[in-house]
Amino acid sequence: MTAKRADFPLLASSPGLHYLDSAATSQKPRAVLDAMMHYYTHDNANPHRGAYALSARATDRYHQARETIAAFVGVRDSACLIFTRGTTESLNLVATAWGRANVGRDDEIVITGLEHHANFVPWQQLANAVGAKLRICDVTADGRVDIDQFRTLVGPRTKVAAFNHVSNALGTINPVREMIAIAHAAGAIVVCDGAQAAPHLPLDIDALGADFYAFSGHKMLGPMGCGVLVGKRAVLEAMPPYQTGGDMIEYVADDRSTWNVLPHKFEAGTPNVADAVGLAAACDYLQQLGMADVRAHEQTLTALATERLLAIPEVAVYGPPPAERSGVVSFTVGQIHPHDLATILDELDVCIRAGHHCAQPLMRRLNLPATARASFYVYNSEADVDALVAGVQRAREVFG
Ligand code: PLP
Repeated sequence: MTAKRADFPLLASSPGLHYLDSAATSQKPRAVLDAMMHYYTHDNANPHRGAYALSARATDRYHQARETIAAFVGVRDSACLIFTRGTTESLNLVATAWGRANVGRDDEIVITGLEHHANFVPWQQLANAVGAKLRICDVTADGRVDIDQFRTLVGPRTKVAAFNHVSNALGTINPVREMIAIAHAAGAIVVCDGAQAAPHLPLDIDALGADFYAFSGHKMLGPMGCGVLVGKRAVLEAMPPYQTGGDMIEYVADDRSTWNVLPHKFEAGTPNVADAVGLAAACDYLQQLGMADVRAHEQTLTALATERLLAIPEVAVYGPPPAERSGVVSFTVGQIHPHDLATILDELDVCIRAGHHCAQPLMRRLNLPATARASFYVYNSEADVDALVAGVQRAREVFG
C-alpha cells in the first residue's frame, strides 16, 4: 500500500510542493498530529509521579508507546528501548556512558568513512579523551564500506565498532549482518546507527544482534525531539547512567545513589510523553502501509529518478546502484554548485538538500565538496521525479 498525500496536512495544503528531503526530516501524517493532540487534551500529566488517575493514564500512554515502537522494530524486551531526543543523543549516550567506562588507552575504536557526524565525532572525542586509537574504514569509489579492510581493521584491541545501517549522504545499505559478525568474532561490541534504516527498511533489531541500535522519530513520520536507543539488557545493566536526576534513581543517600531498573535508569527527568505517543502513531501508520511496500515504493522512485537524471548530460550520481540504496539520490550536475541547483529547484517548489550532508569525512574521501541530494519517502510519487528532472534541466539552461 502507498501513503496518500492527503494524509499529510502540510502536503495536502501545498499541492504544488515536491518534498524531496525526507532523509533530513519527514512530513507528519494527521494520525501522528492527532495522537499528540489527543494526549495533550485528554491524558497530559507528569508520568510515574502522581498518585492520581490522570498521572496513571499518562504513565500508561508512555508505556504503551514504548511497547508499540518496540514491536514495530523487532525488540522483544521493551525495557531495553530507551527514549532519547534522537539518534545524536542516543549515540552520544553510548560513546559517553559506555565508552568512558569501557574504552581506555591503546584500545581501538573502529568506525567507517561513511558516517554521519553524529556517529563520527562522539567516537573521535572519546578516543581523544581516553587515548584510544580511532580506526576509520575506507570507502570504495562507489560509496560502500570497504568490507575487506573492515575485516582487517577489527582485531583483538577493538573495543567497539560503530557504523551506520544506511548512509544518509549516498543511501548505501551496508552489509550490517556481516559487519556485526566480524566485530563480534573479535570480541567487540557493535553500535549501529539506524537513523536512515528504521524509516525505510523492514527492521528486526533483535535478529540483527547489534549491542546498540539508534534511530530518530522525526525521520519516520514522527515528531522531532523523540528518538530511540535500543541496547542489549546485559550491556545496559552493566554500564553507568548517562544523565542523573529524577526518575532514574532507586535510592539517594547523601554521598551516593543507586539506579532505577531499565529503561528508567537511562531516562533522567520528566519524559517526553507526547512525542513518544506521536512516534508510536507513526509506527502504526507505517505498519499499516507495510515496510516491505514502503521499501518497494522507494526503490521504484529511486531507480526511476536515477535513470532519468543520468540521461541528462553532465549528471553524475554517487553511491552503489539504486537496488542497493535506500530512497536517496546524491548527484551533481557538471560545474553547477549544488547550492545553486537547490536554489533553482526551490523556485520550482522542489525541496532538495545540498551540501556535505553532515558527512565531511565521506565527502573528503570521495573528493567532493558537496552534492545535491533528493530523498524519497512514502508520500512521494512519479510527479515528484518529473519535477526534479524538470528542475535540473532548468538549472542547466540557467547556468548554460
Ligand atoms: N545518523 C544518520 C545516518 C543521519 O542521517 C542522521 C540525521 O540526518 C543522524 C545520525 C542524526 O540524527 P538526528 O539529527 O535526528 O539526531
